[in-house]
Amino acid sequence: MMATGKEELIHLYAKILRLPTLANYATIVREAAQHCLGYEDFLCALLEHEVEQRQENQYKRRLKAARFPQLKTLDTFDFRCLQNVKQAQINELATGRFIERRQPVLMFGNPGTGKTHLAIALAYRVCQLGYTTRFYTAGELATDLAEASQQGRLSALQARLLKVELLVIDELSYISFGRANAELLFQVISNRYERGSVIITTNLPFSRWTELFGDATLTAALVDRLAHRAILLDMNGESYRLKQAQAKQQES
Ligand code: ADP
Ligand code: MG
Repeated sequence: MMATGKEELIHLYAKILRLPTLANYATIVREAAQHCLGYEDFLCALLEHEVEQRQENQYKRRLKAARFPQLKTLDTFDFRCLQNVKQAQINELATGRFIERRQPVLMFGNPGTGKTHLAIALAYRVCQLGYTTRFYTAGELATDLAEASQQGRLSALQARLLKVELLVIDELSYISFGRANAELLFQVISNRYERGSVIITTNLPFSRWTELFGDATLTAALVDRLAHRAILLDMNGESYRLKQAQAKQQES
């Protein structure tokens, strides 16, 4: 069928106005005819469809930009395993209000206690709510920062990181980056103070953070700032994997 002049015009207008979904108006026109929609209802349906599509696309973009290494969700997290963390605390975090308040969240705990799982699950949740987020391991972030620094684009990267509403820094431990990169990482965490939220997971209590960053005075200042505003989650406990393995062994 040859395109009518109107069809072409609608496509052109939709393009000029950057309303890509509107160009696929045929289905909505058909449905409107079937249900004898009035002009106003038709216009509303058309715009609603455009808005929904746009939100869906934005969500997909945010999810991609988050770079989660794997998808973990809150529904698959068993809160009974954590003695010192209450589900209500996590439910509160899942509302994203801590991001509005630009609060840091710190998860302390030995390996296998679900820190990475919970960090991803929370970031995923707030991504669904409309917040921008980016997942890094401390090692990856340190490498990216060092690379940017060598290539003279450190401030661009720092600015980009500050724009992310929730930054996740997973596995902050002293084997994850060298001394030279410690300062770059320190700056990122320090810069976010009252400017943006961050979730940090670590196996090191604050008392041992000097081992991470070297300088005792600077580290004390950072810890002081963090401790002042942060939500602290003590996730220490039995390793989930170990427990699963033991349960399996008992079954057989
Ligand atoms: P950590 O980062 O603290 O070392 P992970 O988050 O990597 O621990 O957890 C190890 C594995 O155990 C992951 O596959 C994770 O999904 C699972 N896991 C840990 N804790 C829980 C939990 N409470 N409920 C469900 N799965 C868990
Ligand atoms: Mg982990």
